[in-house]
Amino acid sequence: MALIVHKYGGTSMGSTERIKNVAKRVAKWHDAGHQIVVVPSAMSGETNRIIGLAKEIMAQPDPRELDMIASTGEQVSVGLLAMALQAIGKQAVSYAGWQVAIKTDSAYTKARIASIDDAKVKADLDAGKIVIITGFQGVDDLGNITTLGRGGSDTSAVAVAAALKAQECLIYTDVDGVYTTDPRVVSDARRLNTVTFEEMLEMASLGSKVLQIRSVEFAGNYRMPTRVLSSLTDPLMPLEEEAKSGTLISFEEDTHMEQATITGIAFNRDEAKITVLGVPDRPGIAYQILGPVADANIEVDMIIQNQSVEGKTDFTFTVPRGEYQKAMDVLEGSVKAHIGAASIAGDSKVSKVSVVGVGMRSHVGIASQMFRTLSEEGINIQMISTSEIKISVLIDEKYMELAVRALHKAFGLENA
Ligand code: ASP
Ligand code: MG
Repeated sequence: MALIVHKYGGTSMGSTERIKNVAKRVAKWHDAGHQIVVVPSAMSGETNRIIGLAKEIMAQPDPRELDMIASTGEQVSVGLLAMALQAIGKQAVSYAGWQVAIKTDSAYTKARIASIDDAKVKADLDAGKIVIITGFQGVDDLGNITTLGRGGSDTSAVAVAAALKAQECLIYTDVDGVYTTDPRVVSDARRLNTVTFEEMLEMASLGSKVLQIRSVEFAGNYRMPTRVLSSLTDPLMPLEEEAKSGTLISFEEDTHMEQATITGIAFNRDEAKITVLGVPDRPGIAYQILGPVADANIEVDMIIQNQSVEGKTDFTFTVPRGEYQKAMDVLEGSVKAHIGAASIAGDSKVSKVSVVGVGMRSHVGIASQMFRTLSEEGINIQMISTSEIKISVLIDEKYMELAVRALHKAFGLENA
């Protein structure tokens, strides 16, 4: 017998028919002798609908009031699921975040979990009940309802699993796992049986949107084994088979031994590049350029400073494409004159492609293989950045899909 947390996304909870299927699946796990806690999302479209109502009243609603209503979708879900379980003869009880309590800070619409009280949930489980807890919501020290940011139910589920020291957190969703790359770009992308949480963090931050990134951080910090699997399968499929399906986010690098050096190819289409040309090369220059950009709340990703020639250098960095104009305005506004740069150039049609894999730590030649593959396709590399388990290049957006396909093949990631 084990304590297991299930999380169901909005699509899985999308209609009463689907909720009945979730109940069947949950009952199957409970019948097998496990203690089960379920953390569902709101029914699909519901959170958008209620936030839309708020915006009809005012363009910039008060975040406290917004959380008050945005959190209600999950409250409907948990109640319906408890009823669906009771209707098939199971004992089930639902709780809102504040009833547990899931304590957060007071950063409305993007609150962070501070602590979870496990007493009530443990007592219910020991009494044989299935416990259902709202995803996405918590409560601050003053008793105000908070939410964890869009997609936050993933984080709720992993946090609840960590607090209860669950054996595993199963994230049921409308895809059947994590892939070597986006199957819409590479049709023979392969589903991974395991991925380490560090790789998952890199892939998630690079745009593979299977999980809210904070849930992966949580899984890493608390070493909570977390599995992404399909909720679209037959709810009554054999449990042993279901328990092994999908992709397990693991912490053991040796579970990885059978896999290739590279785990996946990630990409991000929406990048923009900015170059400050002819900058006097003196202490403080990087700060004088990037300080105002950071103050404008713009996230900077890749950074390069060239060798200086006759005391002048060029300084290049990337920002999310949506922030490109704002960043240019900041630089043209005061920074350029202040630091005495010659000019500022930009390109908002660039993309980032990365190879990711913990195997890089123990293998040489990954970078050269990557660069050779791109050169054989005639793709020019504009910028390069690396971490211990990732090499990223910035290229013209026209070649992004070509680069992803060529690298996927070069590193042998396709379906056997
Ligand atoms: N219902 C929330 C949202 O739509 C949280 C979630 O689904 O994870 O963002
Ligand atoms: Mg989601």
